[in-house]
Amino acid sequence: MSVFIVLLGAPGAGKGTQAKLLAAKTGLPHISSGDIFRENLKNQTELGKLAQQYMSKGELVPDDVTIAMIRERLSRPDCARGAILDGFPRTPAQAEALDAMLAELGGRVGVVPFIDVPEDELVERLSGRLICRAQGHIFHKKFNPPKVPGVCDYDGSELYQREDDKPEVVRNRIRVYLEQTMPLVAYYEKKGLLVKIDGTQPIDKVTEALWAVLPEEAKSA
Ligand code: AMP
Repeated sequence: MSVFIVLLGAPGAGKGTQAKLLAAKTGLPHISSGDIFRENLKNQTELGKLAQQYMSKGELVPDDVTIAMIRERLSRPDCARGAILDGFPRTPAQAEALDAMLAELGGRVGVVPFIDVPEDELVERLSGRLICRAQGHIFHKKFNPPKVPGVCDYDGSELYQREDDKPEVVRNRIRVYLEQTMPLVAYYEKKGLLVKIDGTQPIDKVTEALWAVLPEEAKSA
C-alpha cells in the first residue's frame, strides 16, 4: 500500500523547504499544488491563467479545479510508493477528496506533521523569502541566505520574490489559512494522524523531527 505524507502548516511555516529535503531522503516525489499552479502559469496554460486570478489575491483556487489537478498528478506512476504532499489538502473538502482518491488508488495517509510557527514570525519569513527560477528551491534573505546573493546554491538560476509574498497579499494568505486550512488540524487529529512539530527550530532540527515521525514504509526506498 502506498503511503502519503501530508505536510500541514501556514504559508511560510517551512513546508516546501522540508518537503524537498524529505523527498530527497525518501525518494518519494514532492507534490506541491502551488508549484504546479506556478508551472502552469509560467507555461500560460488555461489552468495557470485561471489559478492566477486567485493566487494574485492570496485566495484559494476553487476546490473542484484543485482536486482534479491533484487527482491527475497522484495517478502517475511515480506515486506508486506514495508522495510528500505540500499545500494539498488545504480545505476540508480537499481532505475528503484525498481520502476518496487514496481509497481508489490503494493508498493511505501515513502521517500529518503540522509544522507550527507563530503568526508574527510568518510575515517576516514570507517577506524575506526567495525562490529559484529553475526548480523552486527556497531561500531566505536573513534566515537561509544563498551562498551568492541572488543565485540558487543548487542550480545557479536566478532567485526572485514571489508576487504573493508581497506584504499586501501575505496578510490575506494568512487569513485564508486560518479560516480554511486550520480546520484540517482537527480533521486529522480526530483520525489520530496529526503530529505537531515545532517549526521555529533550525531547518535541520525540523527535518530530524519530521524524519522521526515518518512511517517506516516511507523511509525505505
Ligand atoms: P503555495 O505555494 O502552497 O503557497 O500556494 C500558492 C497559491 O496557490 C495559494 O495561495 C493558492 O492561491 C494556490 N493554491 C495552492 N495550493 C492550493 C490548494 N490546495 N487549494 C487551493 N489553492 C491552492
